Amino acid sequence: MKLSRFGIKFTSRSGILSLMDDLGTAMSSGQEMLMLGGGNPGHIPEVERRFRGRMLRILEHPGEFERMIGNYAPPSGDLRFKTALAGLLRREFGWDVGAANVALTNGSQSAFFMLFNLFAGELDDGGARKILLPLTPEYIGYADIGLNEEFFVSARPAIELIDDHRFKYHVDFGAIGIGSDVGAICVSRPTNPTGNVLGDGEVEKLVELARSHDLPLIVDNAYGTPFPSIIFTDVRPVWTPNVVVCMSLSKLGLPGLRTGIVIADEPVIEALSGINAILNLATGNAGPILALDLVQSGEVLGLSRTVIRPYYEAKAARALEVLDEELAGYDYRVHKPEGAIFLWLWLRGLPITSEELYQRLKRRNVLVISGHYFFPGLRDAWKHRDECIRVTYSQDSETVERGLRIIAEEVRNAYQQPALAP
Ligand code: PLP
Repeated sequence: MKLSRFGIKFTSRSGILSLMDDLGTAMSSGQEMLMLGGGNPGHIPEVERRFRGRMLRILEHPGEFERMIGNYAPPSGDLRFKTALAGLLRREFGWDVGAANVALTNGSQSAFFMLFNLFAGELDDGGARKILLPLTPEYIGYADIGLNEEFFVSARPAIELIDDHRFKYHVDFGAIGIGSDVGAICVSRPTNPTGNVLGDGEVEKLVELARSHDLPLIVDNAYGTPFPSIIFTDVRPVWTPNVVVCMSLSKLGLPGLRTGIVIADEPVIEALSGINAILNLATGNAGPILALDLVQSGEVLGLSRTVIRPYYEAKAARALEVLDEELAGYDYRVHKPEGAIFLWLWLRGLPITSEELYQRLKRRNVLVISGHYFFPGLRDAWKHRDECIRVTYSQDSETVERGLRIIAEEVRNAYQQPALAP
């Protein structure tokens, strides 16, 4: 098969593709695997009951089901949902937005593909622009999205050590330089993989930095407010015309319905609709219609704050308890969990790489993700990259707890027996 440059780029062994393959192979091995690697949200019975109830009402309501399955939505998505969401954002946060500031996409992953390639890549004049990630570690799903190589530029974070076994990353503003080759800045808040939430001061500085260079700041709010609210600190969400906020219905409990949301200045929304029309013709209806009444009534706020957030907050606390108990006496640190569905474990001075730890855990039927994948655009050698793993705590408590105890055992073994053959 003779492939184009696009074909070669998108079929080569990208980090995400080999991980998904590995995951699939592990799952079909016939052995029970403890899946602490993926990003699937938990199944929360109360949330599922709400969506089941809504689906039944859609089925009973004359014409509603037929609208859901039988009509193409406009390329920027279902108008009723966009209007309801803009209203919610105006009421909740005072953002000056209307339906024309909202575009729906088939999952926010596809929104990032469109946005990143809209702002970065090859230019008319032969030059090229990049996406600046001001803080790595950052979401693995960005890493292979660019249509050309060398798509990201990024910086190491500043590290704040907290107590004996916690730490927190901050943007190191002294380390990020914005050259003429930067096309947009992007951060996830809360951050996948670390559970970090950038402070209001940091975000204000980023907004100002972007504004002063006439660049968009893309804020990936897949876990943030107003929904699904998997955020355990009290921070202010920000939108201004140079900020592009990306949201998703996935972590609300609907990852199977592939609904992403972009809130941006109108020219950005128009550009996205144009690209979406070419790539997808239209956006799926199922997610927006299923979630419509929750957003219209504002009930999505209560559901997020009183059901979804406490569900994950309790899981994070329990996961920390288990790790602290199992790793007492070892030189480990966990990123302060401030949101999202992951613990980010830093094993300072680990005698093996995080990739080797991942392999050892896989042999014990526990899947995590090695931390080295999460530094797109970072070119300098940095040992820290090979000292971290991401562990998902969204699965059922028994699975998470068993998995964490095995992880801790392998970590203890690695510290004690560095030369042990695998
Ligand atoms: N952004 C972040 C930070 C994520 O963790 C994910 C998924 O895990 C996505 C974006 C993409 O989500 P989706 O395409 O399901 O909306």
